[in-house]
Amino acid sequence: MRHESLFRKDHVFEIREKDLLGRIGKLHTKNGILETPYLFPVVHPKHHIVLPKEIQEIGFQAVMTNAFLARKAFGTDPGKKIHELLDFNGIVATDSGAYQILIYGGIETTQTEIIRFQEQIRSDIAVILDVPTGLTNNRAHAEKTVKLTLQRADQAMECILEHDILWVGPIQGGLNLDLVTKSSKHMDEKNFPILALGSPTQIMEQYMYRQLVNMILTCKTWIKPSRPLHLFGGGHPSMFALAVSLGCDLFDSASYAIFARNNRYLTPNGTIRFEDLEYLPCSCSICRKLDVKDIRDFPKEKRVRALAIHNLNVCSGELRRIKQSIHEGRLWELVMQRARAHPRLFESIYELRKYRSLLENYSPFSKKKGIFFFDQLDYIRPEIYRFRKRLIEEFTLPAKSKIMILIPPPLTKPYEMDKNLKKMKEIIKERKDVHICFYDVPYGPIPIELSDVYPITQTETANTDNLLVRLDVEESLTQYVKKIKCKTVVLHGSDQVWSREMVLKLRKQCQQAKSKMCISYYGDDMWSKDAMLKLNSTLNSRKTKREKRS
Ligand SMILES: [Zn+2]
Repeated sequence: MRHESLFRKDHVFEIREKDLLGRIGKLHTKNGILETPYLFPVVHPKHHIVLPKEIQEIGFQAVMTNAFLARKAFGTDPGKKIHELLDFNGIVATDSGAYQILIYGGIETTQTEIIRFQEQIRSDIAVILDVPTGLTNNRAHAEKTVKLTLQRADQAMECILEHDILWVGPIQGGLNLDLVTKSSKHMDEKNFPILALGSPTQIMEQYMYRQLVNMILTCKTWIKPSRPLHLFGGGHPSMFALAVSLGCDLFDSASYAIFARNNRYLTPNGTIRFEDLEYLPCSCSICRKLDVKDIRDFPKEKRVRALAIHNLNVCSGELRRIKQSIHEGRLWELVMQRARAHPRLFESIYELRKYRSLLENYSPFSKKKGIFFFDQLDYIRPEIYRFRKRLIEEFTLPAKSKIMILIPPPLTKPYEMDKNLKKMKEIIKERKDVHICFYDVPYGPIPIELSDVYPITQTETANTDNLLVRLDVEESLTQYVKKIKCKTVVLHGSDQVWSREMVLKLRKQCQQAKSKMCISYYGDDMWSKDAMLKLNSTLNSRKTKREKRS
């Protein structure tokens, strides 16, 4: 095909660091490198609350403007680059005007005209004229928008002349996940250097984050991991961390200005009406110098400008925080903090359970830092899912193991260096038939051979005696006992560790697996001399019986 080799798609996006599906990347544009995740503040081609060059001073290297509105404002042949028209020397992305079609139902231009215009004004990143699905329950309409957008993509490929511009291929389908699948598969086959997920603006305005999670992860299932993904209109700092964790690399939003015009003050945890503010919980250039009363007394235009500058600072700060979290391997922790900003955001986290294997595929195997475990929602995190999955699928007991001691882990880490564990090992040192398996929140069973594997000893757990967590751990332990089929299972520990229900569950599982189960010690100090003596005597009695039998 004629356009096959024209885009520099293999060199466009470099992934530097990863966590969950999120990544820190470098997007190579003809006007410089853009570090992702990145939010393009959307500016009007002509009317600015905050000038594009002031936006740059706040820390934004790139802005987005609307090609359709620019064409209206500057004429069909402005004779200048968009950078000059905006008085901005950073990277400029242009949207085609498709959103205006969605909102106002049609614009008086053709795709060829809008592509040619974006080429004339030398956009660095530009979008073809797609047909957004929007928030609709009309299936026929959604099908039509997907079909038309794919046709437009093919037409665009034939019509584009400037291949140093990073052209964006939009994915449509809206709430219809089968259509998002179809659209993603087809768009991924085409040679657009950037893909974008369309239609989320209205979905986000309605706080439909559950649906958004499904849309993004359906799209990510079908596009190549090497592709940068733009989320059209991804607008509020409270959802950036979630969207980045799902694999969105780029966002664009005019919300800093829209919220400012409506007297809204953004924070990473939500929006506050300016009239409700008594204090300014921020230390940006505006909030450091002024107090609430100063801003309240400003004439309207000056107040809107102050709020817009603050809002931009909050967005910029949140993106830096997200990048630092990816760097530390703590993006999940940040997503969970932000999820508590709003119930709709929080409930969307539950949707991730369906995509655990996708999250695991993308996540790094080891990290610079350990992980935190707070409650049952953290079972979604890939590190825990991965350990448990591999334990059940891949772990086999050492060849001669016949007796498994189930015991909570020692109190000091690394476990192998713990004095109590050393004492216990002395008791069983000659016994090749004895296998030690720790049992703990959140992992459940941890064979001693794996106890130093990441992230076991690097996990910090909140001991809250959460019932759901306890049930989950018990479930994983019974599954493990079922799978390994050890001849004898010895429980060693107190009633804080082995609840009556747990003992009954294990006994039942052992019966089904035709294993014997016994309790060697049931008291407060499972590492005491007395407990060790009892363990020794239990093991010897098993040995004696075994020897008698043989
Ligand atoms: Zn501020």
